[in-house]
Amino acid sequence: MAEKRDYYEVLGVDRNASEDEIKKAYRKLAKQYHPDLNPDNKEAEAKFKEANEAYEVLSDAEKKAKYDRFGHAGVDPSYAAGQGGYGGFNGQGFDFDLGDIFSNIFGGGFGGGFGGGSNPNAPQRGGDTQASVTISFEEAAKGCEREIDSARIEVCDECHGSGAAPGSSPKTCPECHGRGQVTSQQRTAFGMFQTQKACSRCGGKGTIIENPCKKCRGAGRVRKNVKITVKIPAGIDDRQVINVRGQGNKGVNGGPAGDLRVAVNVRPHPIFERDGYNVWVEMHVSFAAAALGCELQVPTLDGKVKYNIPAGTQSGDVFKLKDRGIQSLNNRGRGDQLVRVIVDVPRTLNERQKELLLQLDEALGNETAHLGHGEDKKGFFGKKKK
Ligand SMILES: [Zn+2]
Ligand SMILES: [Zn+2]
Repeated sequence: MAEKRDYYEVLGVDRNASEDEIKKAYRKLAKQYHPDLNPDNKEAEAKFKEANEAYEVLSDAEKKAKYDRFGHAGVDPSYAAGQGGYGGFNGQGFDFDLGDIFSNIFGGGFGGGFGGGSNPNAPQRGGDTQASVTISFEEAAKGCEREIDSARIEVCDECHGSGAAPGSSPKTCPECHGRGQVTSQQRTAFGMFQTQKACSRCGGKGTIIENPCKKCRGAGRVRKNVKITVKIPAGIDDRQVINVRGQGNKGVNGGPAGDLRVAVNVRPHPIFERDGYNVWVEMHVSFAAAALGCELQVPTLDGKVKYNIPAGTQSGDVFKLKDRGIQSLNNRGRGDQLVRVIVDVPRTLNERQKELLLQLDEALGNETAHLGHGEDKKGFFGKKKK
């Protein structure tokens, strides 16, 4: 694998760049290198890919934090493996990322320290897990499917959740005789008091494991990396979260599984701008085309669509292509495509072009505007023509 460039360097922003600056920098590069705008240009294609990859990481707060800390190895496991660094990511399972999941799911109950009098044998819902995915503008507009790598807690398939090594089973706790509670008596000046507390030997479960399962070390549950196909609905917008029910951590004692919450990042498009379910695009036309009217080939989500702008179109005029926008999330049809026409004023003109423009302006009877030009004409053109 070729050495990867620093993502900040790729986008040309510094490490303290704001979310907005990162987005702007990406848009600029996307515009420059988009395959649609650079057909058959391998270098542009590679640059476009590189920019996408950098944006995917730097636009996602969680991935960005990992990248800032660990570099490429923090966001790309294959890169880490290839480099031989980042030890313990797969070996331990209790790395910085998944530690949270473990502490959530096992809570205080893991290791017998649960207080509060809750029953460790009661069904408990599994925790939610989180993932993020970056999709293109078009994928958000039309919907797509993505396979998501997710680490979650599942029942250990070696011991089927009992925590006891295969061939053995949990034994009744000799301390509490399976009740999970122990009673202690205390003599005080006011008399005898009985207090009940969770059995410290079994943690209140009433059973103990003498021969723990090697795979889960007696927990009955293991972390597993799974691939989950997530349907991303058409109309989803940047920063929205999809809740995939029942795909989070498995529940405890027969409780329901938690949900997988997928944060969706949508890459900005080089030419389209989203506004609710409408899509804006800017089209540049010449003065003559605007004055005479012309046929535009308007890029839309459905490809190019012909649209005739009328004679006398002004810079800034907006035309609407109905139902060419983004599919709405609740399936209530599509938004519109809005075309803002920009009339380009030539930045440089040669002598002949200037002459023709002046003639046109004269023919249009633009007297006021001519006062300045008239002098210019005598002085400037007059001299040069001699
Ligand atoms: Zn096990
Ligand atoms: Zn006990």
